[in-house]
Amino acid sequence: MKQANLVGEKEIAFEEVEKPTPEDGEVLIEVKSCGICGSDVHSYQGEHPFVHPPIVLGHEFSGVVSETGKDVKNVNPKDKVVVEPNIVCNDCYNCNHGRYNICENLQVIGNVGYDGAFADFIAVPEEKVIKIPEDMGFEEGALVEPTAVGVHAVRISDQKLGDKVVVIGAGTIGLVTLVAAKDAGASETIITDLEDSRLERAKNLGADHAVNTGELDDGLSEFIQAEFGKDGADIIFDCVGFDNTLNQAIEAARKGTQIMLVGVPKGNLDVNMAFVQDRELDIQGSLMYVQRDFKTAVNMIDRGQIKTEDLITNRFDFEELEEAFELAIDPSNMGEKLKVMVNF
Ligand SMILES: [Zn+2]
Ligand SMILES: [Zn+2]
Repeated sequence: MKQANLVGEKEIAFEEVEKPTPEDGEVLIEVKSCGICGSDVHSYQGEHPFVHPPIVLGHEFSGVVSETGKDVKNVNPKDKVVVEPNIVCNDCYNCNHGRYNICENLQVIGNVGYDGAFADFIAVPEEKVIKIPEDMGFEEGALVEPTAVGVHAVRISDQKLGDKVVVIGAGTIGLVTLVAAKDAGASETIITDLEDSRLERAKNLGADHAVNTGELDDGLSEFIQAEFGKDGADIIFDCVGFDNTLNQAIEAARKGTQIMLVGVPKGNLDVNMAFVQDRELDIQGSLMYVQRDFKTAVNMIDRGQIKTEDLITNRFDFEELEEAFELAIDPSNMGEKLKVMVNF
């Protein structure tokens, strides 16, 4: 089989390797679609703090079960599946308390300690394999992983039915978080971005207000109050994780409310912690998902809440993976592209 090994900075080697044999409890999957994630882009450029080549990237994937190892009970050859890519120890405090997404010994398929899905086949533990409906497309399947990130952030947040919600950032994660927040009963939503085409997508996905923060005369707080009334937002999701976006959230948050940090910050942020203390703000991080979030995401996509055309802007064949990454890192077309999908 063929695998695309990241061997150095912006250097992918297509290697012919032996097809893995599933060990006891493992499932061998023929990969069909795999999205390129922001973290893959950082890894490709040598900017990811925890990813060190050589590694096969790819963790947003769908495929078909090809073979099952001994003791595999719940999936069979030909099943259409997606894979939850967090590999955990099942032994630490958080694994024992239902929060294995923050396992002390977390590994991530295609990211940390485990080769990923930019390969014809991948073997994974059965407990990480989730069946998708027979009529779900493989590209839809590959959108389950990023969707689950938004589902998890909303599920662990304080959001209640009828809340007014702000989402900062209309990239893939911002958009799926918006849809999850609406699904969870948000009564009114604002989403922000600096790219108008992304804001258009957000409107198509049901955002009540989509605002380009680069074009606001006053700050985000004033915009929120104008749309939501004097009490402002009940909860803010920062799906970017920059100093300025988190500061926007801190300044705009009503006293005593929650800010969910879903975007991945690049290390230390310069933010106004005096406001956090003085206003009793609750900043809560959100990482990945657990299996119930993955299943909710499968269901949301199956119900048509998120469609491929909402998120996928570019498609490449596996053989063109390097071109796909070059497009993904190109800063000149940020507005037009969102999810880059690789098909096998
Ligand atoms: Zn990802
Ligand atoms: Zn653990």
